[in-house]
Amino acid sequence: SVLTAPAASAPLDTVADFPAIPDGWAYLDTAATAQKPQAVVDAITAAYGETYATVHRGVYQRSADMTLAYEAARRRVAGFIGAGSPDECVFVRGATEGINLVAQCWAGTQLKAGDRILLSMLEHHSNIVPWQMAAERVGAAIDVVPLTTDGRIDLDAAAAMLTPAHKLVAFAHVSNVLGSVLDVERAVALAHGVGAKILIDGCQAVPRVPVDVTALGCDFYVFSGHKLYGPTGIGVLWGKPDLLDAMPPWQGGGSMIDKVSFQRTTYAAPPGRFEAGTPHIVGALGLHAAIDYVESIGLERIHAHETALVAQARDALATIPGVRLFGPADSAGIVSFAMEEVHPHDIGTILDEARVAIRAGHHCAQPLMEALGVAATARASFGVYNGPRDVEALIAGMARVARIFG
Ligand code: PMP
Repeated sequence: SVLTAPAASAPLDTVADFPAIPDGWAYLDTAATAQKPQAVVDAITAAYGETYATVHRGVYQRSADMTLAYEAARRRVAGFIGAGSPDECVFVRGATEGINLVAQCWAGTQLKAGDRILLSMLEHHSNIVPWQMAAERVGAAIDVVPLTTDGRIDLDAAAAMLTPAHKLVAFAHVSNVLGSVLDVERAVALAHGVGAKILIDGCQAVPRVPVDVTALGCDFYVFSGHKLYGPTGIGVLWGKPDLLDAMPPWQGGGSMIDKVSFQRTTYAAPPGRFEAGTPHIVGALGLHAAIDYVESIGLERIHAHETALVAQARDALATIPGVRLFGPADSAGIVSFAMEEVHPHDIGTILDEARVAIRAGHHCAQPLMEALGVAATARASFGVYNGPRDVEALIAGMARVARIFG
């Protein structure tokens, strides 16, 4: 199993840490983006308001200090995800940029006509479109693993589909729609069994389950800071050092070079090679604070907390006539549902009137919607600040939806 048993501990009560969550507002859209704890807001305010300077260039003390803080954030990320070294952690704008980087710099240079890429039916558009773009350029083809009836990537099907022509597998660790958790170790073994590399989209996993990229054995892992209670505009691409070393640069510019002349330019070693231009300095510091915050609670505890909220929500939703639940019962922090004859946008609007914020739509997973046979779903997703009362508000709101449309 990819998860250790959730720790039995006291219920989480952290909502007071989140200044943008007013009393009585049930924020159930953490899978889109997480609210920020005061510690993250303070780190960002201090970085701009007290200690601000550029990194990697200044000879003056303030800049040297900021460089240390920026690199400390990278070390914090490395420790958090179990990377062998901070040099394996590239700061990017988010998961989307991380996947595009690998699609262009790794797949775009390593794949050739006739090679194949294996994706799954539940992938977010950002783990589909970059591969399509790369495949089109090099003449590679894409295969799609179906889902089990309870909404997991069907790894038995993947095993039957994989061939030596497959050079890359890219799967979500946790589905942003269904909450289903991938058995990453098994997926890695299957990919490596045919000589393929495997990228894991960890966007929804990193805020909800313990992640150790070294133990998982994958080749690339990406996530976004803003879903981990950190700032927008910062994310991480982790890659095995030999793979990153062999990759050409992503964008050209300052900071990514070794030496520049009009005759010949040589490039910096990773991670600098992939960080052209002045980076999102304050974003990295905010991410550092977010990781400190999350680790002060503990991923095991967060996972147990969200698992309990999912169980409460699924049990109660199942009692409302006409409600259809998607995804497995042991989903990590995310519940998608629909109600017969009611558009999810109407559900979202009525819930908003009841001060319950959910997401309604295709969740950037249109192929999955098609596989589920719906145009859209309503999705409630949980974070550390949610509690049983938020689920009760959701259920009361859904009872009202049922009365209005009943
Ligand atoms: N993958 C998954 C599973 C996601 O949930 C998201 C965000 N919804 C992304 C990728 C893209 O993340 P970002 O928009 O932060 O780059």
